[in-house]
Amino acid sequence: MSLDIQKIRNDFPILKQEIYGKPLVYFDNGATTQKPQVVIDEELKIYSHENSNIHRGVHYLSEQLTQRFEDARKVVQKFINAKHDHEIIFTSGTTQSINTVAYSFGDRYVSDEDEVIISTLEHHSNIVPWQLLCERKKANLKVIPINDNGELLLDEFEKLITSKTKIVAVNQVSNALGTVNDIKRIIEISHKHNIPVLIDGAQSIQHGKIDVQELDCDFFVFSGHKLYGPTGIGILYGKEKWLNKMPPFMAGGEMIKKVSFEKTSFNELPFKFEAGTPNYTGAIAMAKAIEYIQSIGLDEIATYEKELLNYATEKLQTIKGLKIIGTAKEKVSLISFILENIHHYDAGMVIDKMGIAVRTGHHCAEPVMNRFNIEGTLRASFSFYNTKEEIDKLYNALLIVKQMFG
Ligand code: PLP
Repeated sequence: MSLDIQKIRNDFPILKQEIYGKPLVYFDNGATTQKPQVVIDEELKIYSHENSNIHRGVHYLSEQLTQRFEDARKVVQKFINAKHDHEIIFTSGTTQSINTVAYSFGDRYVSDEDEVIISTLEHHSNIVPWQLLCERKKANLKVIPINDNGELLLDEFEKLITSKTKIVAVNQVSNALGTVNDIKRIIEISHKHNIPVLIDGAQSIQHGKIDVQELDCDFFVFSGHKLYGPTGIGILYGKEKWLNKMPPFMAGGEMIKKVSFEKTSFNELPFKFEAGTPNYTGAIAMAKAIEYIQSIGLDEIATYEKELLNYATEKLQTIKGLKIIGTAKEKVSLISFILENIHHYDAGMVIDKMGIAVRTGHHCAEPVMNRFNIEGTLRASFSFYNTKEEIDKLYNALLIVKQMFG
């Protein structure tokens, strides 16, 4: 079934506006996605009629909203097919989720001379927490290399593994290049050596179906705001067997069972990892976003976005002097490119004046830029609400940029 894009676009109020007198063309979906009206309405409804702190009250509002928060957890559980709802931890986003594992798992399982493996393709959020862990524990960080297409070298990965390797943390999709990594294979290889795997799903969760049981990953993390939901909410999925053994990361209310000045005992999952008042509004609105994209269809989204990717790749490639960085066989709907020797900021600013939002810079993935010996790229990342006509506008805008600076 093909998507009714005009109808879908009507669901997103922000897409109706003009920027510098031109219709907004929003191609910065890798940074954050826009929000459908149902998500905006959900937040408004909570603050207008339902607000109350959850888990703590016996009064009506508190009980009702606690139920809605726990229902939201179940929506996420079903969405990624986790075995238990208590394996779903609400966090502020991908970054907090990764930090939680790096601190908590790291505290319990990583020590002197141990090793953590990440990849060249990681976002800084999946590099720095592990670097800090390695500094604290005097452990070593190892990095899976990539080829010139921006694909992970899995043979090299297997060679990096030793008896000292304690965890592997890689993304499913590179935010800088759009590469889809073969995480199933990475997980299989790691598990053959009894090593748990964290998957950073920040750039994959919005592009297709995820089944954490089928993948058999040990941790899977993502952010609500890249999934058409609100900012400040995200997910840490962890297998029960790990989460139960890991110590709490943050301490405070809700994560405790009993507190005295002599001894504190910790709450059970998932509350052990949800210290303080959670972003219940965000969690409930994120569940709404999930239901919204499910109503469109994850497979339909993937098919249409692939069509946009192919169209944009073919079209942009015809521009002389434009070079796509990241030419992996498997990619999501994201194109990173450089244009002759025109600085990406200059190009981005000119395009912006035509109402087109693309991202410029290193995309919080400096090691990727270093690998290709560049400072940064222009990045156009497409969503199911984008159109081929919008891609044509980008194409025309780039021709103007070339004329101006070329
Ligand atoms: N990992 C990847 C692959 C990303 O693309 C991003 C954000 O762009 C992050 C992690 C960090 O996500 P957040 O800023 O929502 O915590």
